[in-house]
Amino acid sequence: MNIIDELVQIVGQERASHDKTVLYTYSRDASLITGMPDYVVRPVTTEEVAEIVSLAAKHRIPIVPRGIGSGLEGGCVPVHGGIVLDMRNMDKIIDIDTDSLYAIVEPGVTHANLNARLAEHGFFFAPDPASTDFCSIGGMIGTNASGMTCLKYGDTRNSVLGLEVVLPDGTVINTGSKTLKSVSGYDLTALFVGSEGTLGVITKAILKVLPQPQARATVAAYFDEIGKTGETVVAIFASGIIPAACELMDRSAIKAVNQYKPEIALPDVDGMLILNLEGSAATVAEEVAGVVNCCKKVGALDVRTASTKEETDALWAGRRSVLSSIYRLDAKKAAPNIAGDYGVPLKRIPEVLREVRRISKESGITIITYGHVGDGNLHTGMAVNLLDEKELEGAERAGDAIYEAVLKLEGTTAPEHGVGASKLRWIKEENKSSYPLMLAIKKLFDPLNIMNPGKLFET
Ligand SMILES: Cc1cc2nc3c(=O)[nH]c(=O)nc-3n(C[C@H](O)[C@H](O)[C@H](O)COP(=O)(O)OP(=O)(O)OC[C@H]3O[C@@H](n4cnc5c(N)ncnc54)[C@H](O)[C@@H]3O)c2cc1C
Repeated sequence: MNIIDELVQIVGQERASHDKTVLYTYSRDASLITGMPDYVVRPVTTEEVAEIVSLAAKHRIPIVPRGIGSGLEGGCVPVHGGIVLDMRNMDKIIDIDTDSLYAIVEPGVTHANLNARLAEHGFFFAPDPASTDFCSIGGMIGTNASGMTCLKYGDTRNSVLGLEVVLPDGTVINTGSKTLKSVSGYDLTALFVGSEGTLGVITKAILKVLPQPQARATVAAYFDEIGKTGETVVAIFASGIIPAACELMDRSAIKAVNQYKPEIALPDVDGMLILNLEGSAATVAEEVAGVVNCCKKVGALDVRTASTKEETDALWAGRRSVLSSIYRLDAKKAAPNIAGDYGVPLKRIPEVLREVRRISKESGITIITYGHVGDGNLHTGMAVNLLDEKELEGAERAGDAIYEAVLKLEGTTAPEHGVGASKLRWIKEENKSSYPLMLAIKKLFDPLNIMNPGKLFET
């Protein structure tokens, strides 16, 4: 029997395919990485996943877990062909237990759907990627996704209590528990989070959920020099306040938003911060006063506050529009994810912001800077003509220069979007002493190297 017939035997004709048009739709994610699969399968149970993985092991062909395909580093792209395991149909919310602060879900459920169900109980799942409407919980766990509120609530890893995983030989294991704490042996749950589908397929997750905060307020502050935004962040922490979100937009991000959505009318300044404070009404009021004070002390040109939903939405509208504004900077250009994501220790923020400015000036490429400055994680956006080889090369050189600067500042080249197939050089450079151990762990879990090969590691 050939492989497609064996796959059909496991999941039926409807959910297994080797049709070229179907395969093509699985050859990309939201990055520039491409790779054609040989087969696509859509399992609905853990047993099916285990059988499919065992089949891949028997034939020694790659198997690539895929959530929604919104990854920005090529994580779910089958760069060495093989079977793509589309996990979208495993999308049940199995249990919500607000007394014990957990929810049990299948990996295909989207972040937005989970939070909509939790909201009915007054609860939420805290990690908050901007891709909430479409990204899957499996993909979030695969990449250890995070977003604006990870400063206060942590990244996905901090909200995963346990997992059910199909290992590369088809064995099913459970890690962690329903408890909020456990030190029962090595933390395998944490190891699977962020492993980008290279160690096994996640088929169930126990997630920590939290009650929604009573009150929320927003502060926006505008500065005449970008470095002052970083100095303000350090001052806010020093005053004992941990905002729920602390976001930055530089002059070029502000300009891009004003160009795309003039009605938002952001002030023409060198940099702005936008912060959320969450908690009891009394705490929020106190923290708003503290944040305003810090902004003024560092020399903000203007500070605005909002507490009603309308006022808050108006202040956040600009930040929410940055990515779509980058896409619309130039009709002839795209906005590829080149050095889209980096992180530095908080006190190095002013330095990295100035470095990126220097690289932008020297390369002649407009580099837009924005992101989660409160946890030192920034994003860059460039508009590039992908058909112009020289221009693309120039953008890539600028991207390399950013990552070199980030490593010199003791930062990380992969704070949020993962490594996938696009940051292979940087994961090695950043983890010089521990990379061989990572490789040894991969070999221990996956001696046949069938589980998402070409991600995190070159082969
Ligand atoms: C507009 C936009 C905004 C974004 N904003 C953010 C953001 O704010 N923060 C952020 O962190 N990311 C962001 N992203 C990136 C992306 O949405 C996240 O990485 C997301 O978590 C990926 O989810 P997915 O379901 O699309 O996963 P995929 O892209 O399908 O897969 C991602 C990785 O997870 C693995 N994987 C998927 N499912 C499983 C499984 N069941 N078992 C094992 N491994 C699995 C895959 O093999 C792959 O390595 C954004 C992307 C876009 C396009």
